[in-house]
Amino acid sequence: MIEKMELLDVDKLIEEFESMTKDAGNVQRETLKKILEENGCAEYLQNLGLNGRTDPESFKACVPLVTHNDLQPYIQRIVDGSSSPILTGKPITTISLSSGTTQGKPKFVPFNDELMETTLQIYRTSYAFRTREFPIENGKALQLIYSSKQSKTKGGLIAGTATTNVFRNSQFKNTMKAMQSQCCSPDEVIFGPDFHQSLYCHLLCGLIFREEIQFISSTFSHSIVHAFRTFEQVWEELCADIREGVLTSRITFPSVRSAMAKLLKPNPELADLIHKKCLGLNNWYGLIPELFPNVKYIYGIMTGSMEPYLKKLRHYARDLPLISADYGSSEGWIGANVNPNVPPELATYVVLPDIGYFEFIPLKENVEEAKPVGLTEVKVGEEYEVIITSFAGLYRYRLGDVVKVTGFHNLSPELKFICRRNLMLTINIDKNTEKDLQLAVEAASKLNTEEKLEVLDFSSHVDLSTNPGHYVIFWEISGEVREEVLEECCNCLDRSFVDAGYVSSRKINAIGPLELRVVQRGTFQKILNHYVGLGAALSQFKTPRCVGSTNNEVLQILCNNVVKSYFSTAF
Ligand code: AMP
Repeated sequence: MIEKMELLDVDKLIEEFESMTKDAGNVQRETLKKILEENGCAEYLQNLGLNGRTDPESFKACVPLVTHNDLQPYIQRIVDGSSSPILTGKPITTISLSSGTTQGKPKFVPFNDELMETTLQIYRTSYAFRTREFPIENGKALQLIYSSKQSKTKGGLIAGTATTNVFRNSQFKNTMKAMQSQCCSPDEVIFGPDFHQSLYCHLLCGLIFREEIQFISSTFSHSIVHAFRTFEQVWEELCADIREGVLTSRITFPSVRSAMAKLLKPNPELADLIHKKCLGLNNWYGLIPELFPNVKYIYGIMTGSMEPYLKKLRHYARDLPLISADYGSSEGWIGANVNPNVPPELATYVVLPDIGYFEFIPLKENVEEAKPVGLTEVKVGEEYEVIITSFAGLYRYRLGDVVKVTGFHNLSPELKFICRRNLMLTINIDKNTEKDLQLAVEAASKLNTEEKLEVLDFSSHVDLSTNPGHYVIFWEISGEVREEVLEECCNCLDRSFVDAGYVSSRKINAIGPLELRVVQRGTFQKILNHYVGLGAALSQFKTPRCVGSTNNEVLQILCNNVVKSYFSTAF
């Protein structure tokens, strides 16, 4: 029997989005009202004296700006099993573990049906715009998605990463079907207990269904690059499995093995074809379109800390469009990418005014507590920190992300992700963000390109154990690089931090020479394993770009794997 599938009405979705963004101010007010009506009985709001008022002015007057630390005691009581209305009217039954890259340990945040619904809404919105530009046929998607371990908290709540909570929700599958985006891998692979094994099986499923694959996706694009780097190592094993129709003995979990056995049949022709294609490639350039001839685009979050992977992604993707996915967090969604034909470096996100109530702290004034402004009051060209009020129990919550307003889509702002606010290299008067670090690494790695070598991943640390303190940049590189090149890279890194505070401090030696430490191959994989061990998932993994002393375990992994170190002579 042919399954009848209800596809999404793309025109209707776009129309709804247009009319909502044209009325962004009113929609925001209505959204706040709805959030406060649904949750007004929660202890947190009761204590703040709103007394049933739901207008933005009263809300701002009564409710303080908070960070995760401020909410921690409330969230802890929920985690411990208290069923009274603490942050939300309806009790929270599921908890998300945010990746906690900055602090080094995962944070708990509430997850509920409303958050699930806004997740699907944002997926549908960007799908509508994407599919209008890049139509796909009814096929499959190679979705490089992974679940974290789902555990029970002391109080019996389900806890997993936000993406795991989404992937496990029955509505996720239905929406993917309606978006013609069904994952080619069985659930046992997505939810497999070991991500190395899941990754191998995702690749195998992709190859089995190679003709049907319409696009390749992941939550964050790191997972796509990671998958194809792995492909370079395991492609012959994959071919052997396809040839014999027998899964490698490395895959040990019975549930995964039996799910894969249903798909795997001996297919020597396919194995030969893939083998031949791989041998014909030059340094794996264009691997993706060779393996998947009907792929229309690559899709995943590609901005912010994912930007450094674009070069490698382009290498694998050749001329396939790269489309950045939406902007959100475990705490809540913010904006959709409705301009899919823009390259990821220029991608912006239009805020959906009905998925939360948004405020923005202007950063221009450089005052710690500048007054937040509303969604429709932001100014083009200015930078802000995002404040979320969600349907899942967060009120005036400082997300810690810095965004720049690049324009308006109707009356709703288009945001460009800039960086995490607190990810900053600073010793005295210098201030360098994750973005500054990325630019410095890009500039210095260009020296490497001439040698046909590649910075696989990088991180940084402020070393205050020396006097004066200095910046340390960790690089994992492929192959052997000549000493002189690395010395020059180190000087180039030092010179590339053009912040006036840094340059002047370097000139008078108030900051010591920058140090480039080259780490062994596999070091960043160890960091990934470390985070997965803490309950994170590959799907949400972001390499920590600046490791503070409080994140001791990651710092130790980096320091214990240093093979060479260079000090700048640039100043
Ligand atoms: P998580 O801890 O996994 O919930 O990660 C959420 C964080 O990932 C956000 O606060 C951002 O810093 C980052 N992020 C999410 N979406 C994007 C995006 N589209 N572009 C850049 N960074 C993003």
